[in-house]
Amino acid sequence: MTITIIGTGYVGLVTGAGLAEMGNTVVCHVRNREHLAKLTRGVPTIYEPGLAELLKRNLREERLRFTPNLTSAIRQGDVLFIAVGTPMGRSGEADLSSVFDVARKIGRSLRRPAVVVMKSTVPVGTTERVRRIIQRGQSKSIPFSVASNPEFLREGSAVKDFLAPERIVVGVDSAEAKSSLETVYDPLVRLERPLFITDIRSAELIKYASNAFLAAKISFANELANFAEKVGADILEVTKGMGLDSRIGPRFLHAGIGYGGSCFPKDVRALIVQGRRTRSPFSIMAAVEAVNLRQRALVLQKLLSVYPRLSGTRVGVWGLSYKPKTDDVRDAPALDIIRALLDRGAQVIAFDPIAVPNAKTVLQHQALRYVSTPYAAARGVDALLLLTEWDEFRNPDFPRLKSIMRRPVLLDGRNIYRPAHVRSHGFTYFGIGRASSA
Ligand code: NAD
Repeated sequence: MTITIIGTGYVGLVTGAGLAEMGNTVVCHVRNREHLAKLTRGVPTIYEPGLAELLKRNLREERLRFTPNLTSAIRQGDVLFIAVGTPMGRSGEADLSSVFDVARKIGRSLRRPAVVVMKSTVPVGTTERVRRIIQRGQSKSIPFSVASNPEFLREGSAVKDFLAPERIVVGVDSAEAKSSLETVYDPLVRLERPLFITDIRSAELIKYASNAFLAAKISFANELANFAEKVGADILEVTKGMGLDSRIGPRFLHAGIGYGGSCFPKDVRALIVQGRRTRSPFSIMAAVEAVNLRQRALVLQKLLSVYPRLSGTRVGVWGLSYKPKTDDVRDAPALDIIRALLDRGAQVIAFDPIAVPNAKTVLQHQALRYVSTPYAAARGVDALLLLTEWDEFRNPDFPRLKSIMRRPVLLDGRNIYRPAHVRSHGFTYFGIGRASSA
C-alpha cells in the first residue's frame, strides 16, 4: 500500500514520517521549495522531538519520499491523506480554501481507485463536501471513497503521540474506506491502541468536541483562579484537590495566561460559528473564549498595579511559543501580551529557547529586542514575565536574576514557581490565582 500525504506541516509531516516508520511506502507532497530542499535531506522544517531521526531513517530505507508534484503524489497513493491547514477565516469560521483546492486537484488527477482521508480539522459535513468536489472534478469516473480521521497529536510530543496514540478515530461510510484504514492502523491496533470506528460526521465532531472540552477545562480553571485570588485561596491547591477526584482528573486544570496555538483558539471559534449557523448556539464555548482572552489582559493589569504608566519601562519576557517544546507561535498569548506592552510604550526584551526565529517573522518592533539567553532578557528590566513554561525556566538562579534586574518584579504567567520562595529572594511576585500566603 502506498500512502500519499498532502500538506506537510506539524500534522502531515509527523503523519507521513510515522506511517513510514510503520513500514508503509509514503509519498509526501511539499508545496514550499525551501521546505522540500530541507526535507529531502532529512532536515525537519518544524521543531518536534524525535522527528529528525524518523525522517532520516525512513528516507535512508526508502520508505519515505517528498515531491513538489501534487498530481504525481495523488496518482501514486492508494490512501490519500489531506493534512493541509484550516486556519481561522475572517468571520471565525474554518478557512477551507486549501482543503477544497486539494479536493479539486484530486478530482482532476485521480487515475485509480483510492480512499481520500480527511486528517485536517474540518467542520461537520466537510468530508462529504470534499467527496462532491472530487466527483465534480472527474472527467471519467474513477471509484473512490472518503473517510474522516481527525488527528489528536500534541505539538512537542507529536511523534510519540502519533506512534502511541490514546485513540485513533475513523469515520467511514463504506466498506472500502473501513478496510483501508483498518489496514493502515493495524500495526497500532496490534499494540493495543484503540481504533474507534464511527460515521463520518461524528468523527468530524469528535475532534472539535475534544479540543473544545479541553479549552473549557482551562478556562474553568482560569475563571476559578481569578475568584480564588480575590478570596485568598490558592488555585494550585484548589485544582490539586479537585483533580484527585477521578471523575475530574488533574489535567488541563492549569490556571495561567490562557490557551493559544494553532488549534484551540480557531477550533473553539469554528465550533461557535457552526453552532450559530445551525441555530444551536454554544453558549458555554462563547464564555470559554471570553475568559481565555481576559487572561491575556490580566498580565497587563497586574503590571499596571506596579507601574501605572508602562511607557519607558523595560520588560523582560521568558517564552514566546504558545507552549513548551514547540516552535509554534500561532496565536501565542506571549505575542499578544508583548504587543500590548509595546502599544503602551514599554521596551521589551524577549527570549525563547526555540521559537525566536518564528516570532521574528510575525513580530518586529523598534522597541522589541530578541536575545539569545534568558539572563540577557532579564538584564536591566523593571519586570520579568514568565509566559511559556519551558523546563529551563523552572529553577533560575534567583539571586543572579535579582542582581541584574533593575527592579525585582516577577510575573509568573504559568504558575510554575512557589510564591513564598520567590518572595524570599526579595522579589515582588505575581502569579495567577495564587494566595499571598502560598
Ligand atoms: P500547518 O500550517 O503546519 O501545515 C499545513 C501544510 O499544508 C503546510 O505544509 C502547507 O504548505 C500545506 N498546504 C496548505 N495549503 C495547501 C494546498 N492548497 N496544497 C498543498 N499543500 C497545502 O498546519 P498543521 O498544524 O499541520 O495543521 C493541519 C491540520 O491539522 C489543521 O486542520 C489543524 O487544525 C489540524 N491539527 C493540527 C494539530 C497541531 O497540533 N498542529 C493537531 C491536530 C490537528
